[in-house]
Amino acid sequence: MNVVVLSGGVGGARFVRGVVDVLSAPVTSVIGNVGDDVEVLGLHVSPDLDSILYALAGLADEKRGWGRSGETWHALETAGALGGEDWFALGDRDLGLHLVRTQALRAGGALSAVTARLAKALGVATKLLPATDDRLRTWLDTPAGTFPFQEWFVARGHRDEVDAVRFEGDETARPAPGVLEAIGRADLILLAPSNPYVSVGPILAVQKVRAALARRRVSCVAVSPLIGGRAVKGPADRMLRRLAGGTSPRHLASCYEGLIDVLVVDEADADDLGGLGRVRPIVARTLMSDADARRRLAEAALGAVPA
Ligand code: GDP
Ligand code: CA
Repeated sequence: MNVVVLSGGVGGARFVRGVVDVLSAPVTSVIGNVGDDVEVLGLHVSPDLDSILYALAGLADEKRGWGRSGETWHALETAGALGGEDWFALGDRDLGLHLVRTQALRAGGALSAVTARLAKALGVATKLLPATDDRLRTWLDTPAGTFPFQEWFVARGHRDEVDAVRFEGDETARPAPGVLEAIGRADLILLAPSNPYVSVGPILAVQKVRAALARRRVSCVAVSPLIGGRAVKGPADRMLRRLAGGTSPRHLASCYEGLIDVLVVDEADADDLGGLGRVRPIVARTLMSDADARRRLAEAALGAVPA
């Protein structure tokens, strides 16, 4: 069975790791969000692709939820002491990857090619594809003004309510090589328990990716990032309340209108399954607290496809 997963960073990476642990790596393709990509200290950082790479390579700091385990911060401390940018946390080990990526991009390499090279060097057999090689960036309209994604998320601690999410470059962004092929080859499409607006949203903002999902011939299963109507981490619940009118399964499903057939929801949301229309709910334990929990959630999502 070939599976393709659309994924953001932290929640997505945990889930992707579960899927790869259940299936074998070569049958799993991951399409990652690049709307969060940011230039820091002159380096091209792709936080969501890197969360997935580190999770699959077994290098992730599972407690912190992002970045690498055994990380140190000397370079960033030095940058700060010298009056350089230090608002975006980049550890020393992580910086090594950003240096290699940035050099390859400046030499004319495409992000997809550079990502494939990094994955290979890290021993990751899963195909990890950025949604697009073109410039696609997420912007948020808030009562305090309009901000690029990382300024809102990291610098301002996502404290501003979001009135609208916009994607710079969405009219022209083309799917990266391999993306449409992975969707076309898939026997099952999975949407990771990622933020629907700022993690999966930018992937679907690539028009040909959305169109490929809309005309799918196989099932598409989304996994909810909410437990009891609350995000495990981050602003997904606040965004859903303001932008979709609530945090019930039907509000989440409304973000994926026409794109999903099944929604995996947590046991804590099992009494609130009204209004899902054609979307079939599956109830599972969705907290990915350890490797077993990740695998069980992946099995629930993979089992959603009729044999
Ligand atoms: P980001 O790019 O790092 O923000 O990561 P994602 O968008 O992929 O993941 C953030 C989402 O993951 C949040 O909305 C969380 O609620 C969700 N999340 C994190 N851990 C878990 C978990 O264990 N279970 C579920 N169901 N969702 C989770
Ligand atoms: Ca992200």
